[in-house]
Parts: sequence; C-alpha cells; structure tokens
Amino acid sequence: MADAETQREAVLDALDNVAERLAEEKEYLTDLDSAIGDADHGANMERGFGKAADKREEFAEMEPNEVVKNVGTTLISNVGGASGPLYGGSIMFASQELEGGITAETSVAFAEAYLDKVKDRGGAQVGAKTMVDALVPAVHTYKKSIEQDDLPPLEALAKAVDAAERGVAFTVPIKALKGRASFLDWRSVGHQDPGATSTLFILEELLETAEEYLDGEVDRDARAEDAVGRAE
Ligand code: ADP
Ligand code: MG
Repeated sequence: MADAETQREAVLDALDNVAERLAEEKEYLTDLDSAIGDADHGANMERGFGKAADKREEFAEMEPNEVVKNVGTTLISNVGGASGPLYGGSIMFASQELEGGITAETSVAFAEAYLDKVKDRGGAQVGAKTMVDALVPAVHTYKKSIEQDDLPPLEALAKAVDAAERGVAFTVPIKALKGRASFLDWRSVGHQDPGATSTLFILEELLETAEEYLDGEVDRDARAEDAVGRAE
C-alpha cells in the first residue's frame, strides 16, 4: 500500500480529473437530461465536483478517507435534485471504509458500501433506468475480479469500467421506473440515462488516475509474484 501522503495525492488528482471531465461533458449530460428530465444534470455535476475540486488546499492536510468524506458533504450542500444526495450521501457514507487507508480490500468495501447506499436511498434496482444500472455491474465486476480472480486492482477497475459501459448501453432500450424520467413512462424508452452516464465518466477518470499511480506497482508486484512462482 502506498503511504498516506501518496494516497491523498491520488485522491486529490482523481478529484481534479473527475471535475475536469464532468465540466467537459456538461453539455452532453445536459442534453441527455433534457430528453428525459429537466436538463440540469450537466450543471449539477459540474457545480458539485467543481466546488469539491476548489477545496484542494483545504483538503491538503486531511487523511485520504477524510478527503473523500468532504467531497461527499460538498456535493450534498451544492447539488440539489436526486443526484446530489445520491452521489454525495453515498460517497460520504462509503468513505468510512477507507479509514484504514486505500487497499484492494478497502476499495472493494468502499464500492460495495457506495452501491448499497445508492440503492437504499433511491430505492432503484437494476432495470429502473438509473445510475444503478451502471453501478451494479461495475461494483460486482470489481469485487469478483479482486476477490475471486485475484486480479490486480488496476485490471479489476478496467473491467469494472467496461461493465459500467455495458450498463449505460442497457439503459437506452428500457423504461424508467424511478426519478423524473419515470414520469414519461414509455416515452423514456430509447434514451440513455444521464446518471448512469455520469457514473461511467467518473469511473473512467478513476481508472485514468489509478493508471498513473498503480502502473509501476502492478508491474513490480506481477514480476515479484512470477519470480516467487518460478522459485517454487
Ligand atoms: P433530478 O432528476 O432531480 O433533476 P439530476 O438530473 O441531477 O437530478 O439526476 C438525474 C439522475 O439521477 C438520473 O439520470 C438517474 O440516474 C438518477 N436517479 C434519479 N432517481 C434515482 C433513484 N431513485 N435511484 C437512483 N438513481 C436515481
Ligand atoms: Mg435533472
């Protein structure tokens, strides 16, 4: 496990990358939300993560789990609608799992706690055309890749991103059962869910950041394991 300072840097860089990406995708997310919602998802995400990224200096002395918790509270206080409490409250809740530092094991616990909280708060299951449709396959794939397939976290995360992408595609042909889009009933069919899409963008940026921080380590670990394997 990297030291606490490196972990904090990684979390802060992830936050910057996510904020930047969501700002770039603001118009796209707005367009998706204008088709089946109220056209504010792009602005909501840009504002919330932008405010959190602006606190970089304030976060500079915190433990990595505290930074994550504060990102959550910043989202809660700056993003209204459905997505503010869902994203913010769930990030805040799941940050507890990172108290002992960020490892493969605690990252799985974080992902599971995050998913549980989103489902608990929003009451949506897979197939309701929400962010849950991207999250469930991503979190299950991540957990299985680490716990059963013994993959390095970076590979597990890459697989989770692929799974989230398929989840986003799955939201297109189905009818919304939760949130504003559900008011449209069958007219929501044929449109991609904005929240599932922003979830995918965030995961892509986490992967991008993890690649920067874990690349060397993954290679070193893999080589070390190979060497042990050969010696045995
Ligand atoms: P609002 O719908 O209040 O305008 P946003 O536009 O920011 O909020 O977010 C909309 C997204 O929130 C949807 O695309 C969907 O993914 C997600 N969402 C809405 N309701 C729920 C729910 N009950 N459970 C999970 N996700 C939800
Ligand atoms: Mg909206």
